[in-house]
Amino acid sequence: MSSEKLNLDTLNKELEAKSPQERIQWAVDRFAPNIATTSSFGADASVMLHLTNSVHPGIKVFFLETGFHFKETLDFRDQMVEKYKLNVVDLTADMGHEKFLEKYGELHQSDPEKCCYINKVKPLEEALSKVDAWFSGIRRGQAKTRADIKYVEDYMPGIYKFNPIADWNKDDVAHYIKENDLPVHPLKSKGFLSIGCQPCTRAVKPGEDPRAGRWDSSEKTECGIHVRKK
Ligand code: SF4
Repeated sequence: MSSEKLNLDTLNKELEAKSPQERIQWAVDRFAPNIATTSSFGADASVMLHLTNSVHPGIKVFFLETGFHFKETLDFRDQMVEKYKLNVVDLTADMGHEKFLEKYGELHQSDPEKCCYINKVKPLEEALSKVDAWFSGIRRGQAKTRADIKYVEDYMPGIYKFNPIADWNKDDVAHYIKENDLPVHPLKSKGFLSIGCQPCTRAVKPGEDPRAGRWDSSEKTECGIHVRKK
């Protein structure tokens, strides 16, 4: 946790004129080694993994290992680790997946907010409390809930969140993947444009919002990790 106070309005204006690589470099120069990135190893995850690991090789990659991932996600994760020598740190619920299932059963159906809190929000908060800043690959165009994200935000007291590709659209992402010959998640070509835990993810139909397949049977649209903590 940093005691440093950034002027976020000024800094966001400064970062607006920079490329994603320069935004990442700015954060690394200021906060390394107390900085990490996060990845779901989802549909477009290779982009941020490649960007952050190119600027800062060996950066810690926090992965929320909920125990509910598609096998394809875990295979994709292994492929990325092997190819780019990623330094992945698995974050799990305190009680572990087996005990979680014993205690809560199908919590993703009865109370998905609580399920995400135990398996995602809490483990990530605990990991982030040991760094000063972190990177996320979310973009403004992905969803209404993300339309106002900034390049850098006050996430938790003393912990800054950087969104270096906040301004990229899907064409920018596709261009970067092609230009760098990046692997893509095997389910993306089957209509899974946003990929989270298997019980809470379906493929989207043509014309649907890319995140329409997440928590389809509930009002939920975000797992909660991108919500600023007071
Ligand atoms: S996405 Fe679904 S299964 Fe995964 S933690 Fe959230 S509610 Fe649970």
